[in-house]
Amino acid sequence: MEDCSFCKIIDGTIPAKKLYEDDICVAFNDTKPLAPTHFLVVPKRHIGSAVELTDDDAMMVGHIFAVISLLTQIFGISDGYRVVTNCGKSAGQTVHHLHFHVLAGKELGTFN
Ligand code: 5GP
Ligand code: ZN
Repeated sequence: MEDCSFCKIIDGTIPAKKLYEDDICVAFNDTKPLAPTHFLVVPKRHIGSAVELTDDDAMMVGHIFAVISLLTQIFGISDGYRVVTNCGKSAGQTVHHLHFHVLAGKELGTFN
């Protein structure tokens, strides 16, 4: 999609050091990390946010969580990490292409 920075990373127009890539998704480090490990896993198909997901996306979402599991094992953070997807402006979403933050490497605290 035009004017979507993550679509541009996926097609190579915006550079990013990709940590992982397959037909369904891509993973790259966040440019403004909030933890010692902070990467994003993004579906290649443009989807605005989690609110647009339907049952038809079950395989894609399951696959992304399997990729997250794989990457956390490779990066040695599988003993403790957080997966976050911000959905909508009021939840802090700034890039309107579905993405899953993976954070680890510090005490992340609890949600209240
Ligand atoms: P959101 O706030 O939408 O949940 O998260 C978007 C995230 O994408 C932010 O943490 C931001 O730092 C990251 N980000 C925004 N633009 C770029 C970019 O061009 N490259 C990379 N690697 N990360 C980006
Ligand atoms: Zn996009």
